[in-house]
Amino acid sequence: MTDSIAIHWFRRDLRLEDNASLYYALKSGYPVLPIFIYDTNILDPLPREDRRVVFIHQTVANLKKQLQQLGSDLLVLVGKPVECYQQLLQNFQIAQVYTNKDYEPYAIERDLQVKEVLQKHNICFFSYKDHVVFEHPEVETVEGKPYTVYTPYKNRWLQVLNSFYYKAYPTLKYRSQFWKQEGTAFKYPSLSELGFKEISCEVRAPNLSKDLLLNYAERRDYPALNSTSNLSVHLRFGTISVREVVRQALRVESHAFLNEIIWRDFFSMILSQFPRVVTEAFKPAYEKISWRNNENEFQRWCEGRTGYPLVDAGMRELAATGYMHNRVRMVAASFLTKHLLIDWRWGEAHFAQLLMDYDLASNNGNWQWAAGCGCDAAPYFRIFNPVEQAKKFDPDGEYIKKWVPEYGTLKYPLPIVEHAFARKRALETFKKALSFN
Ligand SMILES: Cc1cc2nc3c(=O)[nH]c(=O)nc-3n(C[C@H](O)[C@H](O)[C@H](O)COP(=O)(O)OP(=O)(O)OC[C@H]3O[C@@H](n4cnc5c(N)ncnc54)[C@H](O)[C@@H]3O)c2cc1C
Repeated sequence: MTDSIAIHWFRRDLRLEDNASLYYALKSGYPVLPIFIYDTNILDPLPREDRRVVFIHQTVANLKKQLQQLGSDLLVLVGKPVECYQQLLQNFQIAQVYTNKDYEPYAIERDLQVKEVLQKHNICFFSYKDHVVFEHPEVETVEGKPYTVYTPYKNRWLQVLNSFYYKAYPTLKYRSQFWKQEGTAFKYPSLSELGFKEISCEVRAPNLSKDLLLNYAERRDYPALNSTSNLSVHLRFGTISVREVVRQALRVESHAFLNEIIWRDFFSMILSQFPRVVTEAFKPAYEKISWRNNENEFQRWCEGRTGYPLVDAGMRELAATGYMHNRVRMVAASFLTKHLLIDWRWGEAHFAQLLMDYDLASNNGNWQWAAGCGCDAAPYFRIFNPVEQAKKFDPDGEYIKKWVPEYGTLKYPLPIVEHAFARKRALETFKKALSFN
């Protein structure tokens, strides 16, 4: 047994700088052993070729290297978290465990189980807000309830915001507190030891330049321009701090950009306060919709062969890279749920499988928004016209040409359904379902 230590458990916060839990761990006075767990509960159901796992593997390796440069190391475990902690308890004298909060239902349950195991050994489990700017109940209604409409939530969010909420945690000021042991280097499992294959995964660098932030409102909707921040993957895995993002947005007063960070907080809050949204429509009336759920049409949507080039370009970009531009995500999601009348949960699951930035709260919130059934969703009669959207947001067809090179030739499929007919059918179906209430 060594002397007592504190543990910092990395999860969605794969960085050393400005990290809330790591900061408090390093200030605890105990030597801090950083750990990461490849959680087999999460990994086992994934396909063996998964870009996210490749990205995590590279990022964790990088984190380990940075810690080694500081004279410490990262202990990487593989297994079910509770069992990993039982193993840790045998090898270390643990005084405290620190981590950053994760608001997904699985994570909440996992943390409760770990906490229980630790409590039996009189070990405190501390968790901190780090992933979002505000968590519930920091932004709530005057009646003390969670907001379910975005605009008043945003107004309150902005009212409550002050520098306390976005100041950086000076983590590295306490770097001397990292656990050190001469001659110890922990092993790092390879991807194949984790049961995954190496595949290419290109992660775009985040862009928070003044130019991008100031022109965000005018340029953000054009998929051919690289005019969004590419932050989503980094925010998802915590390779950048959300507080840093807020500081940059405020520095140049980019309210349009800050608005998107507020949407992210909003959906995270909705998931934490209404976890039933994982499987159910936020608005129960929408459970009455008679989805057509045609499997062949779903397949064509997934493969980018609907005959609507903007939808197809997006779906092909997603399959090839794990990304899709926000405007195109909205059009593709509206097309699936309204034009094809396929249950939003099918589309949500497909995105969840492929998106590099997949995040349960944002994906679920946006899919429910597109289908009309979410809190503060687009009204059901708002049906994007995919042809008009392409004319407006890809006027030169640059984005479409990149992903659908055969567009305009005989090789390109005819539209899977005629727009005016599909629109009318969707309106009738939604109206019928909602008139029951
Ligand atoms: C059907 C659908 C599914 C989506 N699924 C996800 C998902 O799984 N994970 C995810 O991070 N985003 C999701 N989004 C939101 C959005 O499309 C992406 O965050 C954005 O395209 C990522 O690119 P960016 O970082 O360059 O965004 P920017 O436009 O530069 O925005 C900056 C940041 O704000 C946040 N943000 C922007 N738009 C939204 C939004 N509508 N909802 C919540 N947060 C937002 C993201 O963290 C983003 O990184 C989804 C949108 C739709 C319509």
